[in-house]
Amino acid sequence: MTTIFVTGGGGYIGSHCCKAFAAAGWEVVVYDNLKHGWRDMVKWGPLIEGDILDPDRLNAAMKEVKPDAVAHFAALISVAESVADPALHYRNNSLGAFNVLEAMWGAGIDKIIFSSTAATYGIPTIVPIPEDHPQWPINPYGWSKLMVERMLADYASAYGLNYAALRYFNAAGADIDGEIGERHEPETHVIPLAARGALRDDYAFTIFGDDFDTRDGTCVRDYIHVADLASAHQLALQHLMNGGESGAFNLGTGEGATVKEIADAIERASGKPLKRAIGPRRAGDPATLIALSDKAKRVLGWEPQHSSIDEIVRTAFAWHRKDDAARG
Ligand code: UDP
Repeated sequence: MTTIFVTGGGGYIGSHCCKAFAAAGWEVVVYDNLKHGWRDMVKWGPLIEGDILDPDRLNAAMKEVKPDAVAHFAALISVAESVADPALHYRNNSLGAFNVLEAMWGAGIDKIIFSSTAATYGIPTIVPIPEDHPQWPINPYGWSKLMVERMLADYASAYGLNYAALRYFNAAGADIDGEIGERHEPETHVIPLAARGALRDDYAFTIFGDDFDTRDGTCVRDYIHVADLASAHQLALQHLMNGGESGAFNLGTGEGATVKEIADAIERASGKPLKRAIGPRRAGDPATLIALSDKAKRVLGWEPQHSSIDEIVRTAFAWHRKDDAARG
C-alpha cells in the first residue's frame, strides 16, 4: 500500500488532492497546523496537527508515518501579504519547504510533489507560457516558491531526490460531489468573490481594471479545476514511482477566461444578474497568463476533464452557497 504524507492537506488544493489519492487506493496522512487549513476538510485520513516550522514535530511525524512520498502544499498564498511582509513568506514557504526536505531525508524518503506556481514566471514574454520560460517573479511570494524549485533541482542532482514541481495557473472550482471546496479567510480570489456578489446583497463584485489589452479589457487567466489539479498530482506521483524523470510541469488548460466572462458564468450558475463595479487595476496584475501544458499531457498522460469555465463556476458556486449557508 502506498502511503502519502500531505502537508497542508486541510487547505483548498491539498484537501482535493487527498480525496484523489484516497480514491487511487493510497493511504493519506495529513500534516497541517490548521492556521489556514480546516479540520472539516480532512476527510480521507488521519490528521497530525503540526507546523512545518516545527522541525522536531515534523521529523518525528515523518519517521513515524514513513510514507512512500510527500505532497507538500503547506504554504502562504497571498501575494499582497508577501509584499507587505516578505519575511513571513520566506519563512513559511522557503524555510518551511527546507524543513520538509530535511525531515524526508532523515526518514529516508526520496519522492516529493511540490505545489509551485505560475507566479514564478513573473511577467510573461511568451504566451502560452512554456516550462522553460525565464523565471523572474515580481513579488516575494513567487520568489519564495522559486527558491524551493531551486532546492529541489539541486537536491535531485546532488542526492538523487525525485520530484515534480507543479506550477499551477489559476486553481478554481470545487469538489464535483460538493464535499469540500475553497475557503480562504480573507478571500481574495475572483471566483469566490464573484460568487459572494451573487449570494449576498451587501457585497458588490468589483472588476479590477477594464482597460487591459485583452478581448474585453479585463484580465485573462487560465483557470484549472481543482479536481484536474488533483488528478495531475496523482499522475505525477505515479510517474515518480515508475522511475520517471523529475522536473517541473505547468498545470493549466492552455485557454483563458476574462474577469467579465467569470462574472457572466456566475450569472448563469446563479440564474440572476450579478451587480458589478469597475475598480482600478490591482498592482502587479499582468493582462494575460496562459499555460502551455503540453508537457504534463505528454509525460504524465494528464488531460483536464472538468475545466470548462461553466463547470468550474458551477461547482464553485454550489460549494459557496452551501458553505455560506452552513457557516452563516
Ligand atoms: N479580480 C477581480 N476582482 C476581484 C478579484 C480578482 O477583478 O474581486 C481579478 C484579478 O485582478 C485578476 C483575476 O481576477 O485579474 C484573477 O485574480 P485572482 O486573485 O483570483 O488570481 P491571481 O491571478 O491573482 O492568481
